[in-house]
Order: sequence, then structure tokens, then C-alpha cells
Amino acid sequence: MKRIDGEYDVIVIGGGPAGMMAAGVAGKQGKKVLLLEKNRDLGEKLKMTGGGRCNITNYELDNRKLLKHYGDAEPYLYSPFSQFSVKDTFTFFERRKLPLVVQARGRVFPKTERAYDVYLVLKNELKKQGVTILLNHPVTKLIRSVEDSISFIETKNGKRFKAKNVILATGGTSHPETGSTGDGFRWLEKLGHTVVRPSPDIVPLKSPEPWLREVSGISLSFMRIHFFLNGEHQFSKLGKILFTHFGISSPLILNLARDVRKLLNKGSVEAKIDMFPDTDHQKLDKRLIKLIDQNKNKYIKNILPEILPKKLSDVVLILSGVDEYTKAHSLSAETRKRIVKTMKELPLRIEGLMGMERAVIADGGIPLDEIDTRTMRSKKIQNLYFTGDMLHITRPSGGYSLQLCWTTGFVAGKNS
Ligand SMILES: Cc1cc2nc3c(=O)[nH]c(=O)nc-3n(C[C@H](O)[C@H](O)[C@H](O)COP(=O)(O)OP(=O)(O)OC[C@H]3O[C@@H](n4cnc5c(N)ncnc54)[C@H](O)[C@@H]3O)c2cc1C
Repeated sequence: MKRIDGEYDVIVIGGGPAGMMAAGVAGKQGKKVLLLEKNRDLGEKLKMTGGGRCNITNYELDNRKLLKHYGDAEPYLYSPFSQFSVKDTFTFFERRKLPLVVQARGRVFPKTERAYDVYLVLKNELKKQGVTILLNHPVTKLIRSVEDSISFIETKNGKRFKAKNVILATGGTSHPETGSTGDGFRWLEKLGHTVVRPSPDIVPLKSPEPWLREVSGISLSFMRIHFFLNGEHQFSKLGKILFTHFGISSPLILNLARDVRKLLNKGSVEAKIDMFPDTDHQKLDKRLIKLIDQNKNKYIKNILPEILPKKLSDVVLILSGVDEYTKAHSLSAETRKRIVKTMKELPLRIEGLMGMERAVIADGGIPLDEIDTRTMRSKKIQNLYFTGDMLHITRPSGGYSLQLCWTTGFVAGKNS
């Protein structure tokens, strides 16, 4: 018989936002709680959320409206969100002296705009609730007893813990360098759960266009992007686009990735970017004529930057086949129209989505029909609970992922 290194009411595996919330809540109920984390510290992914500012939730206090953002998961989420809503997220953090502020599109951030402060609140809460935390403890095995429950947890360091209840919070598979390497999914498949194969979601788009390297880092806040499948127009969206050396990004693009993936599965995809969406071809041509008239003797390469970032205007000239040292007054009407066309229809082949290393979340995970979402307990293993990114729930960016962590973490912690 192997030695047991500790016995707990609740063992939480994974110290991301969902696991920390769950462990704190379970501790508050007077339970003896152990939190096992494989990294040297808790919340590595949490610390990078929202570009380090942490978009902690989305300000929609009506659950019926909020849950529309979670696709097919909506009906499963009424119960957990009735137990811990967006309003509860505000209360939880603000009572712990972290005021929150609502910004554009309902996105909520800590007033300090530091994800690290969110991590500190959760870490303090764990301390306050007497949770035992073991860092550098990768869990390797969940041992199932004959009564269909998990009886022991084993770690790589050769330790073995006994638990009445186990909460899984090992996350998904995006940004694996933060510790989210899909370990939980491998265990669950062996334990008889279905795991919907994760694929990168909320992820930038990849393009082979060589000119992207020249404009990498430039973003324009008001562009329209049109998508074409095998040459046929499919849909368009308006918003900010960031050019990167590998393709395009920005919240608008990240949230389109799911739809673009569907197109990519059907054929070849091209995007066309309209850099002047509120000006038609004719009006843009008139604007260019005016610019030319005012700068007749200048090279075109020196006047186009008056309406576009310099590097982007260089690319426009190359793609329009215009010699950058052409004097403005000698541009033919036909050449001018080519420039206008490029500015209105900048072509960009889309060859795919970026991988897990760039994805905000991974689509996939445990389907909700295998979970009693009133408690977040497995329907297959009686003392096992699920939280956060382990769940197969599609959602956009904007704070919806972390809200899922707070809600499911709370419900699992309370019921375990
Ligand atoms: C760049 C980026 C920015 C983001 N920004 C936002 C944002 O602003 N707003 C938002 O709502 N969402 C954002 N997200 C998504 C959000 O970070 C995730 O939804 C959230 O972190 C999921 O939390 P989790 O606790 O379920 O899992 P994770 O945060 O993935 O945590 C899982 C934890 O489990 C540990 N673990 C894994 N396997 C084991 C094991 N075998 N043994 C022990 N421990 C283990 C990991 O080390 C990790 O600490 C962002 C994601 C990324 C990548």
C-alpha cells in the first residue's frame, strides 16, 4: 500500500483563475482544501489577460442577454449564472478592494488596469480561506475507485493525496507555455468522458503576403474587411485591424476566426481590406486629385502618407504597380484609379488560423451534457467537478471567458 501524503475534503487541480476561485470558495465553506499547480506560480495565463490589463468580465447584468454570447451552451448556463453572475463578479472583487471600471463595448477591467492585481486578490483569498497550495506539483494521475469516484491524485514528484471531491481546473490548450497543455483532457478520455477535440479559437489570421512584414505593427481603427470564398463574397465586418508579420489581428479579427475557419474548410479564402470604408471609390479619387493638385511637384511616395501611414502607403504603391518616384502631376487618371482601388480593396490571401500558441482560447473540451451544470459535477464520476476552459463552450473575446471561470469556479467550489 502506497503512503498517503495528505487527505482533503477538496483537491483542486490547476491554479488558473477558475481553480483559484473554486479553491477559495470551497475553503470559505470550511472545507479542508488542497490546490495543486504544476507551475512555479499560480495564474500564469491570468497575468497576461487583456494585454496585461485583464478584461475581467463583460458588463451585461441581464443573464438572458449575457448568455446569448455563449452559443449552444446558453441553456446549460442559466443555473450556474443564477448562482454567480456578472454582478457577483463586481461584488467579489470590489469587496476585496479591487474596483472595476466599464470600458468600451462593456468590457470590464480592474481600475488599476493590472491583471497582476486580479491575481493578487485571488492569492490573498486562498490564504485567507486556509487553502493549502502546492506549486511545482504536476498531477500525473487520477485514480478511480470501484464506486465510480476519484479516490487518489498522484503527482510527478511521487506524492499521493486522497480526496473526497476533486475539482478539475487544468484549463484548455491555448498558450501551452502557461501550463495549459490539455492534461485534464487526457485523463478524462481515459475515465470515459467525451472530449471535443480542441482547436485554436479567438486567434489571429495567417497570410502569406510578403508585404505584411513591412507594415507589421500598424493598426487602423476604422477599416472594413471583406471575405471571399473561391472568389465569391461571403461577409464583411467593420473595425480595427492590426497588421502583423504573419497576418492580421485585433479583437475584430480574433472574433472572426471561427467564421473564417468554416470558409477555409470549404475552399480558398481571400480578404480585401477597405481602408476608407465611409468614402466610395469616386470620392476617394476626388480626395486624391485634391491632394495631387496641392502637391503637383512632389513624388507620389511623399504625398500619399498624408492620408495613410507611410509604410502602408508604400505597400499601396507597390501593389498598384506605381513607381514611387512618379511626380504627382504626371500620374495618369488610370494610375490614380489603381491606387484608389488598392486602398479600397487591399488584397490579402488567408491561408489559415494561427496555432494554439497565439490563441486566446481553444474551442473544444468537455461537452456540457456530460456535466450537471447546477453543481458543475460530472455525470459519469460522482466526485469530480469541472471549471473554466475545460468546458466546451464557444464565446467571443470581451471578458466572457474569465466570467465563465468565476461562475463555474464558484459553483464547483460551493458544491464540492
Ligand atoms: C493572451 C491571452 C489573453 C486573454 N485575455 C483574456 C481577457 O482579457 N479576458 C478574458 O475573459 N479571457 C482572456 N483570456 C482567456 C482566459 O485567460 C482563459 O479563459 C482563462 O485563463 C482560463 O482559466 P482556467 O483557470 O480555466 O485555465 P488556465 O488559466 O489555463 O489555468 C490552468 C492551470 O492549470 C495548471 N495545470 C495544467 N495541467 C496541470 C497538471 N497536470 N497539474 C497541475 N496543474 C496543472 C496550469 O499550469 C494552469 O495554471 C486570454 C487568454 C490569453 C491566452
